[in-house]
Amino acid sequence: MSDFTSLGLPASLVQSLTAGGFTEPTKIQAHAIPKLLEGRDVLGIAQTGSGKTAAFGLPILAGIMDLTGRPRPMTTRALILAPTRELAVQIDENIRKFAGGAMQLNTVLVLGGVSRNAQVQKLARGVDIVVATPGRLKDLLDDGKIRLNETRWLVLDEADRMLDMGFIAPVKHIAKAIGPRRQTMLFSATMAPAVEDLCKGLLKEPVRVEATPQGSTVVKIDQRVILSGSKAKRGVLNELLASETEGMERVIIFARTKHGADRVTKSLAIDGHKAMAIHGNKSQNARQAALKGFASGQVRILVATDIAARGIDVQGITHVVNYDLPDDPENYVHRIGRTGRNGASGIAITLCDGTETGKLRDVERLIRRTLPVSGDLHLTNETGVQEAPKTARPASRPGPRSARNPKPAFADRRSPAERRPFADFAKEVGGRSQQAETPQRVDGQVNRVRRDPDTGKPMGVKPIGKPKQRWGKNQKDAARVTHTARA
Ligand code: AMP
Repeated sequence: MSDFTSLGLPASLVQSLTAGGFTEPTKIQAHAIPKLLEGRDVLGIAQTGSGKTAAFGLPILAGIMDLTGRPRPMTTRALILAPTRELAVQIDENIRKFAGGAMQLNTVLVLGGVSRNAQVQKLARGVDIVVATPGRLKDLLDDGKIRLNETRWLVLDEADRMLDMGFIAPVKHIAKAIGPRRQTMLFSATMAPAVEDLCKGLLKEPVRVEATPQGSTVVKIDQRVILSGSKAKRGVLNELLASETEGMERVIIFARTKHGADRVTKSLAIDGHKAMAIHGNKSQNARQAALKGFASGQVRILVATDIAARGIDVQGITHVVNYDLPDDPENYVHRIGRTGRNGASGIAITLCDGTETGKLRDVERLIRRTLPVSGDLHLTNETGVQEAPKTARPASRPGPRSARNPKPAFADRRSPAERRPFADFAKEVGGRSQQAETPQRVDGQVNRVRRDPDTGKPMGVKPIGKPKQRWGKNQKDAARVTHTARA
């Protein structure tokens, strides 16, 4: 008898799981599945790679198996919300894999960034499970393309991330549309106060299941920090990628911003590495292509931002490199969880420059351990050459120029020796030093106006006064006629 059977799952589903290679439930599955089969709400605190998709997916599949008939048009029996499109795609794939041949299962992905029509058409027939990102689902709900009144199961996966991404309003709106007669499961890797609040609003006397203590990182991941100046990071990364002892076979590199991810990808390409970027500014197709290339091994390096990387479950990632430390320390836990999946071991290397030491301390506080550190914060660039200090620019306030925000005076950078010949030349030409005669400029520079040596008046300057009268065409013609007549 498989352990999954002892959890109370139907035999046909257990058979399909065994055929798919799932024989031993993970810790979160062992704890959550029996409670969910009893109909309880569950709050799951599980880190990435813990098997939480099956923990909420299998009880839903068992519940759907018990139902008779077809779902009604435009309705869904279960709704799973995920923060990113990649994670939603992955959840859908996994759930269909778990169901295998055990049942006829209809699932629909409702995601932004791809065609709405195909989604609407599939929903029109009625489905068993919708896996969605909150934004697009709310759109379809508002447009009357989906009804949630028959939905019995609601899952919020990676709820902490959903809140971070500003999905709180659509999530609440969607939960309200489902109504109170539902079973709700909320999973989160970390338990921020905002998540606690959301739980209070959405869950009814939930059973709390926890795979590992909050904020803890997978022990099998070997974590370390390399200190370096920010410009030296590129060189440090190149050394790591070239190192045979490091053995970086499949690497995911995290950058803090989309722009930063593009910059790292570009320099990797220049330095001769095959790398692709995945972030929110890329089209959904480009994101899927990058992920596919990385998963198939065609591309050795995937450069990602935190948000885009949330759903990535690629086997065999040997290294996670934090090119920048994350703003939110909890993201560190998510990032490094991309390696060491399914009990495999992995390595996480964090490059930390002088501006990031505070963030490093926050991470260490969260994971409750001190990370081993090597390197030198004062390493300046790839070549190790100390850069000349940047010359200070004159202080200037942004915004339109006005009396209170004048154009800054530029300092005369010439040395006194360089200035002298001009003063001497002026003396020679005018017999007197212009500096003595003309008012000194605030910046100390000499006015370069040529003056008549006798009168001392500026030369080549139009006299101020009435402008010379210009003749119109008729006046010119009249003058020409008179002139010719006189001649
Ligand atoms: P998750 O935490 O749901 O993203 O799952 C991480 C990975 O673990 C997925 O690739 C699953 O296919 C796999 N997995 C889930 N449950 C089991 C299990 N009981 N035994 C082996 N692998 C599993």
